Amino acid sequence: MSSERSLRTAGIAVSIAFLALAVLSSTDVLPPWIFRAVLFLLGALLWGWLLIRTYRTLQPRQRGWMLFWQYALPLFGSLPLSEWIAPQDATRWERIDARLTAVLAIGLFIAIIYYFIHKNKPNMRKKIVAGNWKMNTLPAEGVELAKGVVAGRGEVCSCVNFIVCPPFTHLAQVAEALKGSDVELGAQNCAAEAKGAYTGEIAASMIAALGCKYVILGHSERRQYYGETSETLNKKMEQVYANGLTPIYCVGENLDEREAGKHFDVVKAQIEEVVYNLSEEQFKNLVIAYEPVWAIGTGKTATAEQAQEIHAYIREVLAAKFGAAAAETAILYGGSCKPSNAAEIFAKEDVDGGLIGGAALKAEDFLAIGKGFAK
Ligand code: PEP
Repeated sequence: MSSERSLRTAGIAVSIAFLALAVLSSTDVLPPWIFRAVLFLLGALLWGWLLIRTYRTLQPRQRGWMLFWQYALPLFGSLPLSEWIAPQDATRWERIDARLTAVLAIGLFIAIIYYFIHKNKPNMRKKIVAGNWKMNTLPAEGVELAKGVVAGRGEVCSCVNFIVCPPFTHLAQVAEALKGSDVELGAQNCAAEAKGAYTGEIAASMIAALGCKYVILGHSERRQYYGETSETLNKKMEQVYANGLTPIYCVGENLDEREAGKHFDVVKAQIEEVVYNLSEEQFKNLVIAYEPVWAIGTGKTATAEQAQEIHAYIREVLAAKFGAAAAETAILYGGSCKPSNAAEIFAKEDVDGGLIGGAALKAEDFLAIGKGFAK
């Protein structure tokens, strides 16, 4: 049985049991307080459920306010309300009962209002699907791929921003193929220095001159195979901003770190060591990609819940330094993202799109991933 069907069956069963309880409590078969106790329990469960659901959709500052109203109002408002509910000659227990009922009623009322206000609030952050082609495609193949993306782009909501990041060698040709479309161009890396005697390096200014808007920085393959450190990345960030580009800064833990439960500490350090050095102005122009190393190119994907959990955490770490601006930062998920799993992952509140490797090499799959956005 699907989980949706089991949930519906359970809901019907609970409702029938509840009605039976109400009937039996109104006769002599069951004492009347049982019905009230169950009603109270269900109300409290609904209150908790609404609170948790809404809490997850809010930004850190909004959460503080919600908790304030959720506790302050029932605490103070329940006093006059309970006086009104309780009979004049109420016993001590009747007063306690009236006070608890008033707290629950007010709490539930506020939770319902919060829930409906925030339920359908559109997420105003940019929705991004970026393709990291890595060291794949020859120039002609890259141009074909880019043309395929441009050709099919119209079938996907214009609210989705597509970015392709080909190898350096065909940036110029791909830029030409993208002309006239809203598909944007990015590079996969850039030098830490502005110019000079650095044989084999490509400066951020050169990338910008070819029409790039984005640069992927700190990809795990570069950290792992080319010894890229936070120190180097700080210098690269400087170059990227100096040339008017937007960094797509990658963070993520490896399998050992995940298994040891260190993933939160790892991404926090990667953010603190680099992103915390940005100015407020620079921070507004930043994309983060969370890419668990164990999911990159392995076919293993983080579950939507795992992605949401760490994306929300990343946003909290960003907010600790940059405050409300963190609510606007696009945080992408990367790691074996494909058409079949994109929609579920992108449906999560703090997931604003994907950095796509393997599946970006087929225009059809890349575009299908973009269709995964329903929000
Ligand atoms: C990547 O390397 O950025 C990536 C997400 O790769 P893949 O989608 O192939 O796992």
